[in-house]
Amino acid sequence: MSRSEKPRIDKPLTDPPPIPEASIDSAVEVLRSARLFRYGEDTSAEPHAALLEAEFAAYVGTKYCVALNSGGGSMCVALRATGVEHGTPVLFNAFTLAPVPGSIAHAGGEAVAVEVRDDWLIDLDHLAKRARETGARHLMLSHMRGHITDLERLCEVCDELEVTVIEDCAHTMGARWNGRMTGTFGAVGCFSTQTFKHVNSGEGGLLVTDDDEIAAASILYSGSYSLYEQHGARPPLEVIERLVPTTPNYSLRMSNLAAAILRPQLKELPARAAIWKARYDELAGLLEAVEGVRIPTRDAREDFVPSSIQFSLPSLSGDQILAFMDGCADRGVFLKWFGRAEPLGFTGRREHWQYIRDPEPLPGTSQVLATLLDMRIPLSLTPDDCRIIAAVIRDELEAVRSA
Ligand SMILES: *Cc1c(COP(=O)(O)O)cnc(C)c1O
Repeated sequence: MSRSEKPRIDKPLTDPPPIPEASIDSAVEVLRSARLFRYGEDTSAEPHAALLEAEFAAYVGTKYCVALNSGGGSMCVALRATGVEHGTPVLFNAFTLAPVPGSIAHAGGEAVAVEVRDDWLIDLDHLAKRARETGARHLMLSHMRGHITDLERLCEVCDELEVTVIEDCAHTMGARWNGRMTGTFGAVGCFSTQTFKHVNSGEGGLLVTDDDEIAAASILYSGSYSLYEQHGARPPLEVIERLVPTTPNYSLRMSNLAAAILRPQLKELPARAAIWKARYDELAGLLEAVEGVRIPTRDAREDFVPSSIQFSLPSLSGDQILAFMDGCADRGVFLKWFGRAEPLGFTGRREHWQYIRDPEPLPGTSQVLATLLDMRIPLSLTPDDCRIIAAVIRDELEAVRSA
């Protein structure tokens, strides 16, 4: 068969979820009103940021929500609000992306890396070892690519170690562990509304918590001037006012425009989640049947919202993986590889973040990432597309193995 006759994917696999018409109308209204800043000195404009905070807190099931400029910004604020200061050690699971160690550095902390196991989830024994040897009392736990560890067990271990958990839910909006929303297990949950997450306002972050003091500090760090009363899901004013003199304004607010775009999208999340899950199950089922492809079995308590899929090719060398990826790309299937020498697009690993001073070697994580591939699942994917993608992966894998 000539190259042109081989089945291929012609639609872009990097399409972000579409923006609903209601978001576009709402954005135009905000633009016409010129009220792009979330706070007003009168209440004549629709306070989208405050309304979004109330709606998102209700959706996740927390008392409080603070809208911020980005996921990474909300993680920095969460670390500061839970007591991270200059030089404070902060644990993080090393299968993650640049905004995670970046948020730790932004908050002034020192990142302390924790291994992941070959199911890509955090290694709790290594976590305990690293907490004991560094004295770290904070964990920034990334539910990386939507893979959720046993959060009940993790919280028990962290309680014992007196470690405060902050959940990075950039890949788990709407996802649950054992029936309970991610973002509600730790002291704080942080979400991103950047274009390639589950809802899209270009940039944006949402921080959720049940803790009065953390919520109050987060509102003030976000940059609320003296207009914190206008927040949509906030603790009592006395709690905020007590912290005013000692809390700097970092100006990491969400704009009213971003909030206006997000509110209609929140309503679409359950429908989007159902499509993502169906396509994921389809792809995972097909890929599991391909020789040489490994996908770890996921726990039945994990209810994930998979906007991407990962698989590993444990028997291939780095050069073979590059050849395989080239073959797939020629047929419209664009994959990313966590083992690449240089960070590219949305991949990266510890060695690329040289500002991290922690010298601990991570042989387990390095081995996992060396053969780990990643593909986005656009909402526009059809079941037929899934079959073509699986066929492309199977063919190209065969081609490199027999080369
Ligand atoms: C996207 C992302 C974030 C937050 O990113 P922002 O671009 O700052 O909104 C945090 N953690 C992970 C793992 C991410 O992929």
